[in-house]
Amino acid sequence: MSSVYHDYSTFKNVTSFADSLQNFQQVDGLNTFEQIWGAYYYYMGNDLFATGLLFFVTHEFFYFGRCIPWMIIDRIPYFNKFKIQDTKLPSSKEQWECLKSVLTSHFLVEAFPIWFFHPLCQYIGISYQVPFPSVTDILIQLSVFFVLEDAWHYWFHRALHYGVFYKYIHKQHHRYAAPFGLAAEYAHPIEVMLLGFGTVGIPIVWCVLTGNLHLFTICIWIVLRLFQAVDAHSGYEFPWSLHNFLPFWAGADHHDEHHHYFIGSYASSFRWWDFVLDTEAGPKAKASRERKMKAAAEKVQKKSQ
Ligand SMILES: [Zn+2]
Ligand SMILES: [Zn+2]
Repeated sequence: MSSVYHDYSTFKNVTSFADSLQNFQQVDGLNTFEQIWGAYYYYMGNDLFATGLLFFVTHEFFYFGRCIPWMIIDRIPYFNKFKIQDTKLPSSKEQWECLKSVLTSHFLVEAFPIWFFHPLCQYIGISYQVPFPSVTDILIQLSVFFVLEDAWHYWFHRALHYGVFYKYIHKQHHRYAAPFGLAAEYAHPIEVMLLGFGTVGIPIVWCVLTGNLHLFTICIWIVLRLFQAVDAHSGYEFPWSLHNFLPFWAGADHHDEHHHYFIGSYASSFRWWDFVLDTEAGPKAKASRERKMKAAAEKVQKKSQ
């Protein structure tokens, strides 16, 4: 019996998912998402399996679901003018090779640890019961995860660009100088684990420290993070791209330069780390760095005169 809810005394017999949903619809004060969540766990009847399947399907569905629109856009000539590196459209062969590698990694590398996630949640106290936490709680935690993951990604991604780390690990992700959505998770297994810790490990550490986290929040976080990663690799810059409204948001404009120049712009979601530490990629950032260095040199020269 599932532990998704604390009191099944009024529940009627369940033989299908619809029956299970009907039972949760009778519970006072549950919203639609909570009813579906509860019905899913109750119907599955095995919480470990339910969590594993939920995470595996969420990952596959939202990763590929977000990649497909970009693959369609690649084939519509109207959108060519928004392509950042306009001469480099990914060929079908390149996309196929990338798809095979990403699928292999999902099924061989990630499909395995996903089944240990539920026992881990229980051990550190990540809740999966209904009702969910408040919207405010969810939004605060999502913001914290975005900021911390970005910092983690900045430093470890920057480290992956050093000598042997680049040669043996990170080089694989840089195979495509002009990235496309599917290439977001095209990476060496060590890189998947190292940078993946920023996505999965940070919420775990958060829960160990605060004792307050729900599995539903982790699901939303993973979906948003997948969207961020796929979009950053899309290769398109539109007038309506998010960073035009939120100047500190990184987006494709930021990460495409990283793939193009192989250096600089290391952060994932935001621009502040690269801005403050002067590691922005591309000719514009290089010119501004040179201007700053020249101004500093002239200042020193004036002082010594
Ligand atoms: Zn890189
Ligand atoms: Zn990349």
